[in-house]
Amino acid sequence: MKKTIALVLCFLLLTLCAVPAFAAQPSDSFGAYDHVYIIGVDGAGAAFGQVNAPCFDSIFGNFAYRHDAHTEEVTISAQNWGSILTGVDYKTHGFTNTSLKTTERTSAADNNSIFYYARKAMPDAELVSFNHWSAINHGLIETDIGVNKSNYSTDPEVVAAIEDYFDAGNAPKLMFVQLDSVDHAAHTHGGFSDEYFTAVRRADMFIGRIYNAIASHGLMENGLFLLVADHGESKYGHGGFTKEEGAAVLAAVGKTVNATAMSADVHNRDISAIALYALGIEQPAHFVSSVPADLFGSEVRDVPGVVGIHSQTFSTADLDDNPTFVRKFTNFFKSAYMKVMSWLVTLPGTLALKLK
Ligand SMILES: [Zn+2]
Ligand SMILES: [Zn+2]
Repeated sequence: MKKTIALVLCFLLLTLCAVPAFAAQPSDSFGAYDHVYIIGVDGAGAAFGQVNAPCFDSIFGNFAYRHDAHTEEVTISAQNWGSILTGVDYKTHGFTNTSLKTTERTSAADNNSIFYYARKAMPDAELVSFNHWSAINHGLIETDIGVNKSNYSTDPEVVAAIEDYFDAGNAPKLMFVQLDSVDHAAHTHGGFSDEYFTAVRRADMFIGRIYNAIASHGLMENGLFLLVADHGESKYGHGGFTKEEGAAVLAAVGKTVNATAMSADVHNRDISAIALYALGIEQPAHFVSSVPADLFGSEVRDVPGVVGIHSQTFSTADLDDNPTFVRKFTNFFKSAYMKVMSWLVTLPGTLALKLK
């Protein structure tokens, strides 16, 4: 009899122990991360899949990525960064490139950014945003919620500032970065140009340096590192409706991220839902962005450590680190040239310019 009671007690004890153990299974990635880092590369589209991108491969290769996530229907920066950071579609938030530059945004506005929700959930958290295109810090991320914002006039300056920031011992809960020189290369030289692809390879190196700045300080153990583009580029830049403009990279690496291509139906705006989910913040009901079903798994895996950085120099892309007025000048001649060329092919008969 005593034996039976002891056995029953043992069984009860085991059951009691087993229940919380099951509840703590890592299959639930909700709130499993202390840090979320979002790296945005303007105009990168699907191009990291079209060049030799060793940093991309080392960081995301065994985790989740897709090169052709859907963009918003309008392939312009404000419309897409707006959706990526607010979780709603471009019609709902209504941002334009001009509105971001002219209208400073506070938390009283509709369709708050994920920084607003992060601040509400974590009043003392370090939140930070490094931008090349300053319009995002001005008109998209709320100015009254204590986000540590800074703007730079070139991508190399953005990356150097991030390295200094982590070297100084900072550990942000939520970080957003926007790199702009890939888009500059497309505006100046066209989306399928050597200069564009060179700028993409250089951006790959920047992503590696940012990842290393984080990983070398032990901040990837509970960190989720995300890469996203606002839109792709056609031969003439972006804003149109080509397949290339409407495709964007979406990539994730973190301890519970699956090795997956994600479903074909993911959107670049899903970044907002993924970020809040990883930080354990309930998604606002009005969001149309969602966490891809196959993104997080039950297995906890090691994330890559510091990755190798290639030591190439990127002279052709350096043009795009020139001051704005130089870019405006070269862009003006480029677009004038394209206008003349496209007019010449419309001339009648033998006068028309034809490709040889
Ligand atoms: Zn853009
Ligand atoms: Zn652009």
